[in-house]
Amino acid sequence: MTATPPLPIITVDSPQQHILRTKTTPFTLEQLPEARQIAIQLTDALTPFMPAAGLAAPQIGISRSIFIYSYDRDPKHLEVVINPHFTPVGTAMVEGWEGCFSVILSDKTWKLAKIPRYEKIEVTYLNVDGESVKKELEGFAAKVFQHEYDHLQGVANIDRPDATVKAFTSKAELDTFMQAVKNEDAKRYNPPAP
Ligand SMILES: [Zn+2]
Repeated sequence: MTATPPLPIITVDSPQQHILRTKTTPFTLEQLPEARQIAIQLTDALTPFMPAAGLAAPQIGISRSIFIYSYDRDPKHLEVVINPHFTPVGTAMVEGWEGCFSVILSDKTWKLAKIPRYEKIEVTYLNVDGESVKKELEGFAAKVFQHEYDHLQGVANIDRPDATVKAFTSKAELDTFMQAVKNEDAKRYNPPAP
């Protein structure tokens, strides 16, 4: 909890958009206190929008390798992911629509992107306690992890070369479409292995 208001989420057409298009810097173990502070800032920034899938540090203007995500959009399941890497498990891909706060919070443009993602991945990262984590993710958890990982590489979903971008004429139209996407996502809410 912080006394200051949460940092605003920056969008792909804002003056700070270059941060969303910049590769982030990882943390050293000595910098873990800094990572924890950013994790709090991420949680504070995302809380008004919960239930939500995740948020990466560049989206609040911080070009560091950290994001938070929830495998089922439940705030109780938010996890902190520091310095992540992933490798595909198998070759199965799933194509699905993705919303991104840095796109849909724009007041000028309303877009979603359909992107092929690996169905199953092995991830490695540091958790909020600085412990090394290695686990397999599949379904929605894998989809979100890959989306947030892209943010740390300086890539927004609509900028990916393999994205099919759909533009809407209003936020309301986008929200209606996104609700159907969330219903589909909910069929793939696989809890990560402990
Ligand atoms: Zn995003």
